[in-house]
Amino acid sequence: MFHPREKVIVGLSGGKDSLVLLYNVMKLQQRYPKSPEIEAILIDEGIKGYREESTSIAKKMCDVWNIKLHIVDFKTYFGLELDRIIPKLKNLKINACTICGTVRRRLLNMKSLELNGDKLAIGHNLDDQVETFLQNILRNDLNKIVINPPNGNPIDDRKKFVSRIKPLMSIPEEEIVRYCYYKEFPIQSNPCPYSIGFSILRKKVQDFVNHLELHSPEIKYNLQKANENFVSNYKPKNLSNNFSDSKINKTQYQICPNCSNPMGLLRKICYYCELKEKII
Ligand code: SF4
Repeated sequence: MFHPREKVIVGLSGGKDSLVLLYNVMKLQQRYPKSPEIEAILIDEGIKGYREESTSIAKKMCDVWNIKLHIVDFKTYFGLELDRIIPKLKNLKINACTICGTVRRRLLNMKSLELNGDKLAIGHNLDDQVETFLQNILRNDLNKIVINPPNGNPIDDRKKFVSRIKPLMSIPEEEIVRYCYYKEFPIQSNPCPYSIGFSILRKKVQDFVNHLELHSPEIKYNLQKANENFVSNYKPKNLSNNFSDSKINKTQYQICPNCSNPMGLLRKICYYCELKEKII
């Protein structure tokens, strides 16, 4: 997913997946002495009682591993911290994770561009990948599968988008947990308070896949393969006519007329701009 000469930026949350990711990217890089320095970005959403612990874990491990950590917060860029966004979501029928994920992705990309990253590595594991794939199918949101391909986004507009890669995409969550214990990495103890309102569909998909796995241990790998095959063969339909003058590059993106960031094929403005208009 990346070349030793490429500069890899790691999205670090302080949770188990991103620590395992950062540690292993660092180890790989150390095999190639001329590799550019890795840097890490932590997004502070502004969740009181939750973010403090993971930030302190992230800072501690970056100190130990001698990695530069950049902390970027919602308030400075989006205009409000998540704790103050949540009360505004009630009438909009948007859940906390949707807004949190959208703003986080945007800020990660923005900071990675600023740091001249070639690749942005994020800690999605096999379970995350498979759940997202099935969820998108169940919602008939097929374009979304193509927008988030499992082995990173090959969009080639370097001025707008740092290609996201998911080096842990074939590692089951359970193995990552075991690896953390084995390596004695600190583990965050308190969950995000908004994860209680976590998508019901995701939870059901998670239970369903885990149940299938009891009898068919290969099921998650099969679904991952199906995801990859889908990405290579699916041709997005229904292109919007509003974008006759905008670039649709070979990876099937449009450019948001508001902020010039990449966005999905069927949108008029990107979701980040839409949310910002509605909330702020
Ligand atoms: S659980 Fe949802 S709201 Fe909490 S940090 Fe994760 S994505 Fe954000």
